[in-house]
Amino acid sequence: MTRIAVMSGKGGTGKTTAVASMAWYSEGLVLADCDVDAANLALTMRGRLRIKDDYRGAFKAVIDDRLCVECGKCEVNCVFGAISEFQVIDIRCEGCGACKVVCPAGAVRMELRKSGEVFVLDTDRGPMVYAELQPGESNSGKLVTMVRRLADGLSESDGLDTVLIDGPPGTGCPAIASITGVDLILAITEPSRSGEHDLMRLIELAHHFSIPICVAVNKWDLHPGLTGEIEESCRRLGVMVVGRIPYDPNVNKAMKAMHPLPSLFPNSPAALELHRIWKEIRTGAMERKGSGVVLNLE
Ligand code: SF4
Ligand code: SF4
Repeated sequence: MTRIAVMSGKGGTGKTTAVASMAWYSEGLVLADCDVDAANLALTMRGRLRIKDDYRGAFKAVIDDRLCVECGKCEVNCVFGAISEFQVIDIRCEGCGACKVVCPAGAVRMELRKSGEVFVLDTDRGPMVYAELQPGESNSGKLVTMVRRLADGLSESDGLDTVLIDGPPGTGCPAIASITGVDLILAITEPSRSGEHDLMRLIELAHHFSIPICVAVNKWDLHPGLTGEIEESCRRLGVMVVGRIPYDPNVNKAMKAMHPLPSLFPNSPAALELHRIWKEIRTGAMERKGSGVVLNLE
């Protein structure tokens, strides 16, 4: 099994458009939308629902009225302000358990609660796993790990050799959970100073975990000078630049229609470049698999 994660240092760089297009060019793979705080790949790929399940990833405190002696210790010790008048305010409870520890009457118990849902869709291009975290819930890294495990399981059960991951933006816990154990990261960036800065952080993260990373600059022609600078920075770091995706108004049209770009505009400049990039990185990821490539960040 080969796992490829498409990542971006920041949101709005065209990552999901790239993933949907690459999936469109594939015969059969498993898609994993790991952007659990804003999963939107399913809007483009669509499909028939195969599995829907609750995700229980959050502990919440519950006070038993029958045992509570109304001493107020739990409220005083809850730094999240999640207890009022001997009742827990669910949305504020972080599940730290401090109230349970200080309660002299054994009136507090911790319950594992539903904090999101996990879905498996059967799309034209293979199964797709995605998840939705309930508003206000944390632990998105744990949910990403669950999505990844399900995707790996489907890869084995359905006999599909590639897992393509649509990662979350940034370099936090969900991003780390998305890239752990992958064979290759494709970083999508844009020619802006913030895009460059966030790309460098993503490259550092990949370096830290010794994961090969390559870069594609989206809408490169909006600022050719800065694109050149980003590519030069990548080269200095030993990071391969695999493509330049041009600005293409068809991308917005396809997004509005909620279809993968190549399904509506197969000969558009961005679609053709994404096809070329996908062929290159898919082959490259398989060749590099297990080679332990370490980036040169000296
Ligand atoms: S578990 Fe922690 S956050 Fe939740 S009510 Fe108890 S002390 Fe407050
Ligand atoms: S610490 Fe226990 S007994 Fe005291 S108010 Fe809280 S739940 Fe009730």
